[in-house]
Amino acid sequence: MFNFILFGPPGSGKGTQSVKIAEKYKLVHISTGDIFRKNIREKTTLGLKVQAIIEKGDLVPDALLIEILEDALLQHSKARGFVFDGFPRTIQQAHDLDTMLGKKNEAVSLVLALEVGDEEILKRLLKRAEIEGRKDDTKEVIENRIKIYNDQTQPLIDFYKSKKKFQSVKGIGGIDQIFAEVCKLIDRFI
Ligand code: AMP
Repeated sequence: MFNFILFGPPGSGKGTQSVKIAEKYKLVHISTGDIFRKNIREKTTLGLKVQAIIEKGDLVPDALLIEILEDALLQHSKARGFVFDGFPRTIQQAHDLDTMLGKKNEAVSLVLALEVGDEEILKRLLKRAEIEGRKDDTKEVIENRIKIYNDQTQPLIDFYKSKKKFQSVKGIGGIDQIFAEVCKLIDRFI
């Protein structure tokens, strides 16, 4: 299996690139943010539990992420591999993912980060707020999400570097141009 993590700050283009990667390499795309938003829309128990947290831009507790991921892995037990988008976001989640994949005798194959600076991110997310009207795209919440990314998610870079699984590409430019760079890297590993 090819278990791929697309990594990067909010607004780096992870969602867009993940969809393209999953399509090209026939992998299952798992976006934890999308799963939460769907549950919020459908007012499920999970949705009601996480709505306020997400609207503030805070992180959903790690224990809930394990449940969601276990469920997704089970649902797609025949998959050729996964593109994880927005997960893991904490060191604990990275350990949990290792454990979950380990149970299937699998492991993370590659972590690829899209590099985009804070200023560009803020600009992009404010623009997305106008277009999509996501409740967590207000300036205050965006700043919180960037801070949380820097404090809790960025340490994962060293975690995966130490496992020699980390690569990065510039996340600035056209979608197809970035995708071409991403594919070049994946092709070396797949
Ligand atoms: P995203 O669409 O990936 O930006 O996720 C939107 C929001 O969902 C985040 O700001 C968090 O509140 C929540 N979320 C998504 N993935 C995770 C995760 N792996 N850990 C904790 N919270 C998450």
